[in-house]
Amino acid sequence: MQHYLNYVNGQWRDASRQLEVINPATDKVFATIARASIEDADAAMEAAQRCVNSGALTDVRPVKRAAWMLKAAEAIREIAEEGALILCRENGKNLDTAREEFDEAARLFEYYGGMTDKIEGVSIPLGKDYVDFTQYIPMGISVQIIPWNFPVSICARSLAPALAAGNAVVIKSPEVSPLAISLLIKALEKAGFPQGAINLLCGKGSEVGTHLVKHHDTNHIVFTGSVATGQRILKDAAERAIPSVMELGGKSAAIAFADVDIEQLLRSVKIGVFYNSGQVCSAMSRLLVHRSRYEEVKKAVVQLAESLTVGIGENHAELTPVVSRNHRQQILTMVDNAREEGANVLTGGKAADLEGYFVLPTIIEASADMSIAQEEVFGPVMVIMPFDDEDQAVAIANGTEYGLVAGVFGENLNQTLRVANRLIAGQVFINEWFASGVETPFGGVGLSGFGREKGQEAIYSYVQTRNIGIRLKHSV
Ligand code: NAD
Repeated sequence: MQHYLNYVNGQWRDASRQLEVINPATDKVFATIARASIEDADAAMEAAQRCVNSGALTDVRPVKRAAWMLKAAEAIREIAEEGALILCRENGKNLDTAREEFDEAARLFEYYGGMTDKIEGVSIPLGKDYVDFTQYIPMGISVQIIPWNFPVSICARSLAPALAAGNAVVIKSPEVSPLAISLLIKALEKAGFPQGAINLLCGKGSEVGTHLVKHHDTNHIVFTGSVATGQRILKDAAERAIPSVMELGGKSAAIAFADVDIEQLLRSVKIGVFYNSGQVCSAMSRLLVHRSRYEEVKKAVVQLAESLTVGIGENHAELTPVVSRNHRQQILTMVDNAREEGANVLTGGKAADLEGYFVLPTIIEASADMSIAQEEVFGPVMVIMPFDDEDQAVAIANGTEYGLVAGVFGENLNQTLRVANRLIAGQVFINEWFASGVETPFGGVGLSGFGREKGQEAIYSYVQTRNIGIRLKHSV
């Protein structure tokens, strides 16, 4: 059985305790990983601090960092196939989805590699006696806490801009599904980043995660995960006023108008809610349909759910297991509660009769105020409901505490754009769920968090502004 290690100060490091990694498709342990201790976390922070103090990341021409970043992208592509297979085994996800994660990771390093020498300040006019300008300088040590659902691409989406801007990074990988991140970091070893610039720890959130957040040398926190954990981290971060990026959960709605192209909508439903078995923060977890098309769309969506191939990720099944036994139980409990509240489970709503942690594709007819229509499920579960007019659709879509993404489907661009302008969300898709890329800013409002990842804008979450004002002496 393969054993994976932590990466501290440029060295792979074992620990006295270990965590077991289970394949969600077989319910069997297939690898172990060193479980980082508080001492490992301190060593990682010291290494990062030495790297920051040495100036190895910041005293070079920015184009040097670009070279490291581009080499990193190349190295990620070289190990992508091996990494995708491990990701598929530890996470349960479809092999193609796992490949996409490595591809996105490489793209992120290319994209932010291109930005290292374009993080430009401005000159501010203060009159003839002064020269004034701003600089964007790195935060220092960025602590990055990663969830299990897209461990590789989410790790890269925070790591790449942090390094591009000249920060040293300490990553806390998720205790479920930590292996593929190790491969990602192995690839980055070849890129030439200075010693201590990248450190990786796999440990318990409540132990190592909290310790890193509270550490006196932490200058910046990027957290991607659940609302409850994000809130706890924010309280700890507040003690030392540490700037944070919070990428939390969602309960995102798609609105389908009477003139919706149903085939286009179904393609979006398929990826919107069943991609990665619905374990996507920006999943289309609610579908609101104009009453005139409601029955037709409902029937088509149920047919779609029932047509999906259910199986293991390595066989490219469309619906793969969820990440853990516990998580499956949480999903099924939420569906049971929905039934008790009076929601109508149109299809699915139970485990598949297969080895592994499968939840059948589930469509639930519910009203907007029911818990299943308000709370994040994080599984292959979509709520569907009718609406009568634009105002009602907007009110329902905006009627949760989240605000990550939203979608509008219809042929009338005036209407879709008008409604998009009224949706409270960090990103709105018109006529294609996930119409976006590494180039487009992503992040939430409300309980979905704050700060933006991806796109040029994200780089400004990884720097701080320093203003320099100069008083000139004039000769008389
Ligand atoms: P989680 O909050 O349970 O864990 C996320 C990470 O936080 C893990 O690495 C965990 O070890 C660590 N952690 C746990 N307690 C901690 C503590 N007290 N201090 C520091 N770290 C701690 O979330 P999860 O179950 O891994 O991920 C699922 C959640 O993540 C969902 O709610 C989903 O919507 C959200 N998510 C959001 C985005 C986004 O970009 N907005 C992306 C992916 C996932």
